[in-house]
Amino acid sequence: MPLLVMKFGGTSVADLDRIRNAAQKVKAEVARGYDVIVIVSAMSGKTNQLVGWVNETSPLYDAREYDAVVSSGENVTAGLMALTLQEMDVPARSWQGWQVPIQTTSQHGAARFVDIPRANLDAKFAEGFKVAVIAGFQGVSAEGRITTLGRGGSDTTAVAFAAAFDAERCDIYTDVDGIYTTDPRITSKARKLDKISFEEMLELASLGAKVLQTRSVELAMRYKVRLRVLSSFDDTNDQSGTLVCDEDEIMESKVVSGVAYSREEAKLTLVTVEDRPGIAAAIFGPLSEAGVNVDMIVQNISEQNYKGREKPVTDMTFSCPVEQVARARKALETARDAGSISYDALEIDEDAAKVSVVGIGMRSHAGVAARMFRALAEEGVNIKVIATSEIKISVLIDRKYMELAVQALHDAFELDKAG
Ligand code: ASP
Ligand code: MG
Repeated sequence: MPLLVMKFGGTSVADLDRIRNAAQKVKAEVARGYDVIVIVSAMSGKTNQLVGWVNETSPLYDAREYDAVVSSGENVTAGLMALTLQEMDVPARSWQGWQVPIQTTSQHGAARFVDIPRANLDAKFAEGFKVAVIAGFQGVSAEGRITTLGRGGSDTTAVAFAAAFDAERCDIYTDVDGIYTTDPRITSKARKLDKISFEEMLELASLGAKVLQTRSVELAMRYKVRLRVLSSFDDTNDQSGTLVCDEDEIMESKVVSGVAYSREEAKLTLVTVEDRPGIAAAIFGPLSEAGVNVDMIVQNISEQNYKGREKPVTDMTFSCPVEQVARARKALETARDAGSISYDALEIDEDAAKVSVVGIGMRSHAGVAARMFRALAEEGVNIKVIATSEIKISVLIDRKYMELAVQALHDAFELDKAG
């Protein structure tokens, strides 16, 4: 039997009506001749509530018990989905992570897959069951404890099952009808993409496009799982969604495929640090140990060099999410107090946002950066930091210009036009 994986996010299983609506879509695929593995999230808002209860009960909680509580939302929807399908005469059975068993590492709250053995589900399909409903976001450690995969982890569960069971496709049902060139709330010119490559999606997901968990895209890229993102709400219109696939499947692609942003960024500059081997490791080691997600890094000549200093010095600038600034400051001050680094000042700018253009076409086209900078200059937007990769250019700018910058770049690269 050909097999499909269908994943329903929180808004798609928000209440019994929504679950029935989702079950109809599963039934339709069964009628087309597929065996289906359904992955469900918790009802929308449920996981937040559970996390809140854990924090209220025990601020420095035992992560094993966090997982025991927080994984439970998916158990409810898995059972309800199986019951709903049975009511529609579709033979279905639900599975919690440990029953499959979905084997993961023991990093509670951020576990990773180790293995998904097929035997139990294959046996059930062989008995005549048409649908296996799996509680997303969870697994079981070698110690036999329940684990969770990190917020948004059901996407990753879906892709992992699609890979383990050689699914024809992995359909991710959500509340938007696909991946857009940028956030439609920022510009009405945003256009839904028919296809996007794994690599571009990976950049967009990690740059703040919140539709898919980044790890699910990594996994899909590694195992070449064709992912389709589509809405469970739109029953009438175009149901094709966006296919996330290998770039070979995309005939023609534009130089830039999308504009991503992340609103709450901070820029930190260590003024006058020693310019010597090991200084970057001495700065960024403690930051990483403190769990600070450093993104852009720029090292530049310090003007102090021209002021009669004996030893060469440099300034080090980096960006991180605003919410991590306090942690970053503490890590740097601790390192300074311990004598492993020295600096004259730590300048912190918490009013930044990051805007990025992404596209595999950049590999073979020159002039993308110039076009981007010109578009920003024409709007009078000042750039604080620039970072590039093979298929992405990011700039840090004043937060108040973020929307303007996204709109200007969307226009400059003519993303409203197809092809
Ligand atoms: N329910 C979990 C969360 O809200 C996992 C998921 O929905 O993907 O993060
Ligand atoms: Mg999600």
